[in-house]
Amino acid sequence: MAVLICGGAGYIGSHAVRALREQGREVVVLDSLRTGHRQSLPADVPFVEGDMRDPAVLDAIFARHTVESVLHFAASSLVGESMQLPLQYFSNNVHGMQVLLEAMVRHGVERIVFSSSAAVYGEPDSVPITEEAPLRPGNPYGESKRIMESMMRWAAAAHGLRYVSLRYFNVGGAAADGSIGEDHRPESHLIPLILQVPLGRRPHITIFGDDYDTPDGTCIRDYVGVEDLIEAHTLALRHLEAGGQSDVFNLGSEQGFSVRQMIETARRVTGRPLPVVVGARRPGDPARLVASSRKAGDVLGWQPRQGVDEIIASAWRWHSRHPAGYKK
Ligand code: UDP
Repeated sequence: MAVLICGGAGYIGSHAVRALREQGREVVVLDSLRTGHRQSLPADVPFVEGDMRDPAVLDAIFARHTVESVLHFAASSLVGESMQLPLQYFSNNVHGMQVLLEAMVRHGVERIVFSSSAAVYGEPDSVPITEEAPLRPGNPYGESKRIMESMMRWAAAAHGLRYVSLRYFNVGGAAADGSIGEDHRPESHLIPLILQVPLGRRPHITIFGDDYDTPDGTCIRDYVGVEDLIEAHTLALRHLEAGGQSDVFNLGSEQGFSVRQMIETARRVTGRPLPVVVGARRPGDPARLVASSRKAGDVLGWQPRQGVDEIIASAWRWHSRHPAGYKK
C-alpha cells in the first residue's frame, strides 16, 4: 500500500517524502520537475516525471502501485506570478486537481491530504484567523486554492472521498540536518532572501514597506517550520486512516513576527552583518497574518515545536552548505 506524493520533488513535498519513508511507508512520487528538484529525493524512491493534468500519467501510477492515499503538494504557488498569469494558475492548480480527483474516483482511492494556503482568506478582518473566517482571496493563487478546496468538498459528497485541507501560513526552514531545503528560482520568499545577504549573494535585504499599521511598521507573518508542517500531514493521514471525517485546518504557530524581527533573528543566528534597505510596499501584502491553529491541536493533536530562531537556523544550515541550491 503506497502513498502517492504529487509535487514530491518540491520544497515541502521533498520533506514529506523523507518523513514518510522514515516512518516505513511506501511512497511513489509524481513531479513535473518544472520547479522541483530530482536531487531533493532519495535515489531509490519510485519516481515518475510527469504532469498531473495528463490522466494517462495518473492511470499508469495507479495501475502499477496500490495507492491508498494521496498527498497533494503539486501547484504553482507565487502570488505575484499568479496576478500576471492567472489562467496558467487555474490550469495547473484547478485543472490539475480535477484530473487528480477524477483519477482517484476511477481507481477507488479515497483519501487525500491537500496543501492549501492562508491566501484563501485574503485580508483578514482580525487576527488570529480561525478556519471560520470568510474566504476572500485577493489573488488568483489564493482563488485557485479556494476552488481546489471546494472541488474536494463536492467530490467527497458525491463519491465518498475524504480529505484534509491544510491551510499553510508562512513555511520556512529545512530538514534539521541541512541536507534538503528551499530552492526556488527565482527566489521570492523572505527567509531565503534574507540569508542570501550573509552568503554574499546579495548586498542587502529590501523591506517591502515600513509604513504598515504594526508596531515597527513592517508586515507581520506567522512562520511555521517545514518539519512541524510535515508532522501535521502525517497526523492528517492518520486521522483519515482512522476513519476521521473531511476537515480543514490552519497550520501556523499562532505567533506573529515582523519583517524587521525576522532580519534581527537572522543577524543573531548567522552572526553576520545584514544591511537593510527600505523599499516600497509589495502590492497585495496584508499587514498581519497570524493563524489560530487551535483546531489542528484539538482534532489532530498537532503542536508546532520550532520557533523562528530554529526555523532560521535550519534554513541557514541548508543554505550555507548549498549556497547555489541543488545542482542542475
Ligand atoms: N518581504 C520583504 N522583502 C523581501 C521578501 C518579502 O519585506 O525581499 C516581506 C513580504 O512583504 C511579507 C513577508 O516578507 O510581508 C513574507 O513574504 P513572503 O514572500 O516570504 O511570504 P508571503 O507572506 O507573501 O506568503
